Amino acid sequence: MKIYNTLSRQKEEFIPLEPGKVKMYVCGPTVYNYIHIGNARPMIVFDTVRRYFEYKGYDVNFVSNFTDVDDKIIKKANEEGVDADTISKRYIAECKKDMEGMNVEPATTSPLATEEIDGMVEMIETLIESGHAYKAEDGTVYFRTGSFPQYGKLSHKNLEDLQSGFRELKVTGEEGKEDPSDFVLWKPKKEGEPYWESPWCQGRPGWHIECSVMSKKYLGDQIDIHAGGEDLIFPHHENEIAQSECANGKEFARYWMHNGFLNIDNKKMSKSLGNFFTVREISEKYDLQVLRFFMLSAHYRSPLNFSADLMEASKNGLERILTAVEKLRDLEARAEGENFAAEENKEPVQALVEKFEAAMDDDFNTADGISAIFELVKLSNSTAGPDSSKAYVAYLKHTIEKLCDVMGIITEKKEEVLDSQVEEMIARRQQARKDKNFALADEIRGQLLDMGIVLEDTREGVKWKRV
Ligand code: AMP
Ligand code: ZN
Repeated sequence: MKIYNTLSRQKEEFIPLEPGKVKMYVCGPTVYNYIHIGNARPMIVFDTVRRYFEYKGYDVNFVSNFTDVDDKIIKKANEEGVDADTISKRYIAECKKDMEGMNVEPATTSPLATEEIDGMVEMIETLIESGHAYKAEDGTVYFRTGSFPQYGKLSHKNLEDLQSGFRELKVTGEEGKEDPSDFVLWKPKKEGEPYWESPWCQGRPGWHIECSVMSKKYLGDQIDIHAGGEDLIFPHHENEIAQSECANGKEFARYWMHNGFLNIDNKKMSKSLGNFFTVREISEKYDLQVLRFFMLSAHYRSPLNFSADLMEASKNGLERILTAVEKLRDLEARAEGENFAAEENKEPVQALVEKFEAAMDDDFNTADGISAIFELVKLSNSTAGPDSSKAYVAYLKHTIEKLCDVMGIITEKKEEVLDSQVEEMIARRQQARKDKNFALADEIRGQLLDMGIVLEDTREGVKWKRV
């Protein structure tokens, strides 16, 4: 298997630290709102990477964190007049619902930053003792980038350029830095913010230290793969490398994988630009399997532009696969014969499985992997029929299902509930209520509930949502 390693900017053969095992860490979301579909891209992509390793027989230890202490979380909490904890717990729960909808497997461990403070204090102490970090007068602890000659190796930046680039930049509150390219490991508390005790001051950790600490705790000093969106290369991952390698005295991650951006009108989808759709919004219009299929239709390192047309194309493509599997299921129920008939042949099917594997072995080329699945569907549609043997039909079905499972696609068709269908039923229920036919109105409410739709009668009229 070949993986493009951001560190070397080359595709490299994957050699695990321990045979048959993969230790993988993916930076997770900061939880202060519903996740948008840009955040969903690394979730879907690296879940697929994990699934392919599992398909190949690897035992994958997959760790992905939730950043649950951060300025944005605190801001949102202050706006709502609640604790930061209330905000982060709420959006972790919502994020997990979205992940389930996208069929993203739960991580082996998904640690929370606020539950790992002791480990962070410990690592910062180690860094101070070895001269890689220092405490400023106000209690802030900084990492001394100049103490790590390899600083910049991931983002291919040169420390001297960085230092001169930052020189003019004076950040208020960071006057205690020895050098402008140093970064925060621990910062003093501010009024109204959550804080923890530490040897330096009451305060909270900087963002980067959490991943170094969680990765070490759950996966060990050295891991196989560290991943995230490409915006994390600098400074987040560069700083993680500096912290981990200085604290542990070992190379941190062997392979660094980064997904390209999900764009809208060729601009990165982001909360700050306001050009985003949440996964929840998309789930109002589409089965989230369509979103997953859309994400995997491009190579993970390429930029991907979100558009209604591409979503429609993904919906149709997915439908073609699901229809073929449904046909095979029907045929299987009727067909007979445990042996292949004379004209039936395993070889063309096997050749397409090999094509699929070759694509995925080549830095997880899901786009070509999906093409191989489509070819398999075509082969199935043209060779399986009422006269096929049960063995052949079952073999085709099992093969398509297995490859779809790598993509995280469930091959069962779901009854789709359309907005228009719901509106029409609500209108009928309103009419029934007007006619004082409350039995019928209740019956319709019950039918909607069975379809996963809850109604709420408000002063502005009837509101509905999916559960
Ligand atoms: P954040 O919550 O901003 O820390 O982001 C969580 C993850 O989503 C990180 O791996 C980011 O790199 C990734 N991410 C955020 N926006 C996008 C985007 N538009 N396209 C692809 N990945 C993104
Ligand atoms: Zn991280």
